[in-house]
Order: sequence, then structure tokens, then C-alpha cells
Amino acid sequence: MKVDEAKSMSKLRKIAEVVTKLFKIEKRNQANPLDILIATILSQNTNDLNSHRAFKNLKERFPDFESLADASSREIEKAIKIGGLARQKAKRIKELLIKLREINSDFDLSFLKGLSVEEGIKFLTSFKGVGLKTAGCVLLFGFGKEVFPVDTHIHRILNRIGIVKTKTPDETFHAVRKSIPSGFSYQLHTGLIKFGRAICRARDPLCGVCPIYKICEFEMKDFYKEKTKNLKIAKGSDLEFILLEEV
Ligand code: SF4
Repeated sequence: MKVDEAKSMSKLRKIAEVVTKLFKIEKRNQANPLDILIATILSQNTNDLNSHRAFKNLKERFPDFESLADASSREIEKAIKIGGLARQKAKRIKELLIKLREINSDFDLSFLKGLSVEEGIKFLTSFKGVGLKTAGCVLLFGFGKEVFPVDTHIHRILNRIGIVKTKTPDETFHAVRKSIPSGFSYQLHTGLIKFGRAICRARDPLCGVCPIYKICEFEMKDFYKEKTKNLKIAKGSDLEFILLEEV
């Protein structure tokens, strides 16, 4: 289905304002893009708090990329054990660093700054295991580019609200791309993840206390409004902690 860009952009601007205020979102300084890439691999299939512990362990054990690339997969696996799927992630991190070193001996990704978002995505997704969301996160958190990575939370919310009608996060990424108001990518990305954990949850969304209830087109919103009208919006570090904001 074709997205009405003007209508979607206006809704997304409103949502960005709401979530920025609600979660007190501030843009962080840009992190090292390779750290973002590694952290995103570590975040697969686990929560952000555990992947952050795994990331910190990894950085303590291997403070520079050279030593990490030269480490055995077994050593990397031990350092990231707390994040789950350690064997698979260790292998992926090592393969990524070795391939990157062949391209650029000092592991420097700063050349991506001068490329367009499309070119950056094309380069990053050429690495095994790096998908559209990960590539988008590297460009957003590592370079502050105008790109809006879509994870499962964001995909679910944008479909419920009626901004897109898509089947996968990657489809949503393409469908909504031109509707992201300029300068709001960071707030929308981080804000919607927090919003998806605290309010528009996968199960039992808190429609009864939702600040964007009026503009939402979810067909079950009245049912969930009634069901959740006496609940409070949950707060807590586990709900608001986003790994890539802490790298
Ligand atoms: S009204 Fe309900 S479904 Fe719609 S955005 Fe809010 S919590 Fe999500």
C-alpha cells in the first residue's frame, strides 16, 4: 500500500514530540561506528541490559579492535557469554573484523561519513550477518545521519497506528523512509523503542493511557482502552535503557 507521505509525516512529527517529552530524549554524542556495529551484533536475541554487560566485558578484555580481531573465537565467546548465543556472535564479530581489516587496516569506518545513506547501507550490509536495521543503527548512532532504523517494536507500532501496512521491519523501513520529518530520526527511533516497551507493548498495549490514542488507527484500541484504563505507564531502567545510547 502506498504511504500518504504528508499525512504520515505530520503524524510522525507529533509522535516524535510526544515520545521526546515523555522519555526526555536527548541526542547523544556519536559513538565509534565499529563499536555500534559490534554492540548491535551482541544485542541480537537478548535484552539491552545483558548485551550491554557483554559489550563492556568485551571492551575490558579487548580494549582495541586489533586485539579483538587477533583473539580466538573461543576467547571472544568467553568474554560475551552473558549476552547469549555467544558462540555464534563471537564467530560473527571475528569474521567481521578480519574482513574489515582487509579493506582498511586500521578498522576506520569514518569514510562512511562522506557517503550517502544508500551507499553506507550498501557497504555495511555486504558483511555477513549485517542487515538493514544494523546498518541503519551504525549510520544513525555512529554518524548522526538522517536514517530511521526499524526494529520489531517500531514495525509493530507503525502498523498499529496505521502509518504503514507492512509485513516485516525491512518493508516498514522502506515504506516510511520518506515520511520521517527532517531532524527527528534519532528521537523517533529511540523514542518509539521505549514507547513499544512501556506503552504500545506487543501484548496488552496500554491504549487506556496512551498519549497518542487519538491519532492511532488500531482497530482493537477501544478494547484495550477499556482493559487498561486503570493501569499506569510503566517506568524503569530496563524499559528505557537502550544499548546503543550507552556505547
Ligand atoms: S492507542 Fe494503543 S495501539 Fe495505538 S499507539 Fe497507543 S498503545 Fe499503541
